[in-house]
Amino acid sequence: VERTLAIFKPDVVQKQITDELEEIILSAGFTILQKKRLVMTPEQASDFYAEHYGKLFFPSLVAYMSSGPLTVMVLAKASAITYWRELIGPTNAVKARQTHPDSLRAIYGTDETRNGFHGSDSLYTADREIRFFFSDSIVE
Ligand code: ATP
Repeated sequence: VERTLAIFKPDVVQKQITDELEEIILSAGFTILQKKRLVMTPEQASDFYAEHYGKLFFPSLVAYMSSGPLTVMVLAKASAITYWRELIGPTNAVKARQTHPDSLRAIYGTDETRNGFHGSDSLYTADREIRFFFSDSIVE
């Protein structure tokens, strides 16, 4: 089994649909290995998204990601990284509503930045991101 880091971003947490989303995740065959609710400081959000530093959307991304509580989870399943990204859909929630209307970002996301969900995009980033939030966890 593979592990991935999933985040419910502040716009989604605010909707109080976390239980409903967890049911969707479980019925898609994922195991929730770890879960926590937290608020990131702007510094932590900048660190988490360091690869986007200098881009035009970086300041609004950092403001959004530190604007309220997140739900952060480690999900496990065969090919978890790919399956979770398929389930959440394209980055831009507005475009997702046209091209992938059944995706979580289409249904629950807001716009291009406030897109409701995060998923690791490779084994390498999954490892980094799981350690970022669950520093005591062992990742093989
Ligand atoms: P995530 O990493 O959150 O799963 P992603 O891999 O689809 O999303 P990235 O390219 O890593 O997207 O961008 C990280 C986040 O930055 C996006 O999820 C979104 O919130 C925001 N973002 C990305 N591209 C844009 C853009 N062109 N305009 C505004 N915000 C953006």
